[in-house]
Amino acid sequence: MTIRNSIQAMADEIAAYRRTLHENPQTAYEETFASNLVQEKLTQWGVPFEAGIAETGIVATITGQSDVSGKAIGLRADMDALDIVEDPRGKPHASKTEGKMHGCGHDGHTAMLLGAAKYLSENRNFDGRVHLIFQPAEEGAGGAHRMIAEGLFDRFPCDRVFAMHNWPRLKFGTIATCTGPVMAAADRFDITIKGAGCHAAQPHLCTDPIVIASQLVVALQTIASRYVSPMEPVVLSITNFNAGTGAFNVIPDDAVLSGTLRTFDTKVRADIIDKIIQMTSSVAQSYGGQGECIFEDGAYDPTVNDGAATQFCLDIAKSIVGDDNVDGNLTPTTGAEDFGAMLQKVPGCYIMMGQGVDDPASPYNQGLHTPRYDFNDDLIAQGIEYWVRVVEGSLPAQG
Ligand SMILES: [Zn+2]
Ligand SMILES: [Zn+2]
Repeated sequence: MTIRNSIQAMADEIAAYRRTLHENPQTAYEETFASNLVQEKLTQWGVPFEAGIAETGIVATITGQSDVSGKAIGLRADMDALDIVEDPRGKPHASKTEGKMHGCGHDGHTAMLLGAAKYLSENRNFDGRVHLIFQPAEEGAGGAHRMIAEGLFDRFPCDRVFAMHNWPRLKFGTIATCTGPVMAAADRFDITIKGAGCHAAQPHLCTDPIVIASQLVVALQTIASRYVSPMEPVVLSITNFNAGTGAFNVIPDDAVLSGTLRTFDTKVRADIIDKIIQMTSSVAQSYGGQGECIFEDGAYDPTVNDGAATQFCLDIAKSIVGDDNVDGNLTPTTGAEDFGAMLQKVPGCYIMMGQGVDDPASPYNQGLHTPRYDFNDDLIAQGIEYWVRVVEGSLPAQG
């Protein structure tokens, strides 16, 4: 049987796991349902694994028919869901947990990597080892960072590492990525402005933190437009602005802001972080108040694709969906992905697999992180085939 035929033969089984995962969504470090299902199937298929890496994370290792080269690669899937109330229309497998939903398709990513585990353990047509990385907490809680901190690449050294994401905006049957930064770094920050409140009728007797914070919001917008090269993409959004008690006649003591910074370049990122901290302090001081900006730890690095690994992946993609359906010049997105942390340690490539269909109202065409979204199970066979070809191409069988 060809690779494609034998994968097609297991696609229904893997799709059933995908829908079970969809029914049982859990968020950061609590993905016990997914973790248990993965462990149960790996055990059933005789694939050795280590569990409990970053709580629910798992690394399974499959050795090829030989291990002459001593080479190893990593394939990574994320397992976590989101805090979203699902719109179950047209989904018999809708979430059974109110307020939690697989709204980013990580149920599909987990299922496809499981499918790859099944195929690769039954057909070891490669030389070397492949580590299948089932990762928790991609959605904001830094699961990749934590797996690395718990020794992921020391315990399971990889020469290259790969990941994929379903992409509703691209048509099913197309695959896209680009060399270099493909997704942005995401940094979260919190700003506190300390003034001195008073009766709103006598503002000259106080230091108004709302006026200071308002000036600061506008001043921060000049960073992207006046401080960074126009050729360098930067997003700086203030997403929360809180002050006051609800009273209309009291100027409060403090104002609190928070927001997100998205950049693609490490130096630009560091410079802007310094600038935001400095501007917060100096704007507040110039109005007689105090300002402090704190950047949260565990920020997301940019996802930067290695040139050679990307060319390799584009060739694999072309062999699956045809030359005309592969775009190697995808415009990078200002979304973030914690796989970027793995790519900072090991060269590799992250690709987007189209899952959209002709009907714009289809759940497969809804944006990631929206209540009507669903993972397109037609991607399963294609995704498994991609994983298998990445392994067989990276670790060619000897003789
Ligand atoms: Zn997501
Ligand atoms: Zn995602």
